Amino acid sequence: MNNGLRRVRGMQDILPFESWKWQYVERTLQRVSELFGFQEFRTPIVEFADLFIKGIGEDTDVVGKEMYVFSDRNEDVLCLRPEMTASIVRAVVEHSLLQQQGSWKIWYYGPMFRRERPQKGRYRQFYQYGVEVIGSPYPESDVEVIALAWQILQSFGLQNIELRINSLGKREEQERYREALLNYLSPFREQLSRESQYRLERNPLRILDSKDEKDRALLANAPKIIDFLGDESTAHFQMVLQFLQKLHIPYTLDPYLVRGLDYYCHTAFEIVSNSLGAQNAVCGGGRYDDLAKVYGADPFPAVGFALGIERLILLLEEESKFPSQKSIADVYVICTGEDLYSETIATAYCLRQAGLRVIYDLQRRSVKAQMREANKFGVPFVLILGQEELRRNMVLLKSMQSGEQWELNRDTFVEEVKSRIRAVIHHQ
Ligand code: AMP
Repeated sequence: MNNGLRRVRGMQDILPFESWKWQYVERTLQRVSELFGFQEFRTPIVEFADLFIKGIGEDTDVVGKEMYVFSDRNEDVLCLRPEMTASIVRAVVEHSLLQQQGSWKIWYYGPMFRRERPQKGRYRQFYQYGVEVIGSPYPESDVEVIALAWQILQSFGLQNIELRINSLGKREEQERYREALLNYLSPFREQLSRESQYRLERNPLRILDSKDEKDRALLANAPKIIDFLGDESTAHFQMVLQFLQKLHIPYTLDPYLVRGLDYYCHTAFEIVSNSLGAQNAVCGGGRYDDLAKVYGADPFPAVGFALGIERLILLLEEESKFPSQKSIADVYVICTGEDLYSETIATAYCLRQAGLRVIYDLQRRSVKAQMREANKFGVPFVLILGQEELRRNMVLLKSMQSGEQWELNRDTFVEEVKSRIRAVIHHQ
């Protein structure tokens, strides 16, 4: 029975005691994006369904099976975005950004929606961080995004990760390869999984993505796209690899990496972790120079990646890479009697105005219970408002760590509390 008090399948709550992990991840993502000079782009969650139907392709699972599509009251067909690259392309064209500036380095962060079968590391609402370098056809920009992805994962202290990379060349080269792959796989049609038989008709390249073991065995001797690249594509790819070597970013060539979406060309890459199970791709991306063309707009070169936040968090938990949780407050103001509620509130307010993080009890509990709570929250200091001290115009500050305490004059206590706290933070 559903009385409305149940969350939708595949959608998660982030509870108050775990949101600090998300905030830690978000802060790091923003900080590293800024180190690389990327600017944040925010676009709406709701878009016209056509944006993705045209951009990603109806034959892909993301669009064909997984999109949340609905009619607006005026019958426009809208959807919840399943990814953000198409939204960025739309917004770049709609705001004529490339007319204002030759290239843009963009990052984004937010929820995406795909009606997939939920499992560990796979949800129907999930968060992605991603970047796009718009307007540069050069391998430097491929490496700019790969280096950023790599530095992000490194700043979280992750080691057990692998960069897998391939080149998909240009459209014409993909066409020739598609034909060769079709010729190779057609005789094995009956042995392929049902899904792959279907893909054989529609888009044989996507068979390379298959997780089915029998498919994988058949693919072991399949032709490789790298052998179909012309000079220009080969030179581009070689340059990307050289730059990666120069940065000492290790990579593995993966001749069968094509990625799920249709619009990629040249560089395609994924970063996988050996600590995750079946859903081991933390981050994936590549170049998509032709995407704007499918909307009838002038094409522009672009390269980017998207990184799944839930998977990243699972990974950080798996490898114990989260820092210890910061206490939610610097000071807990302890109220020692019924006639001191207003004094407690005013003292806390005063310290907060001075920039300190301050809490006090909202349940009118005993002093012992308040001390226990301060301890549970790991608050480093308590400020005790006692009748006797107040009569002498004093308050008592106590360090929860050392047990030391100081009587402070009420006229100057704010500055003293601040400097005591600073000394502790300095020490840590
Ligand atoms: P994609 O947009 O499919 O290239 O995915 C990029 C990244 O987003 C993947 O590497 C995953 O980390 C993450 N991701 C994709 N789909 C899901 C999902 N359903 N649930 C959680 N994370 C996802």
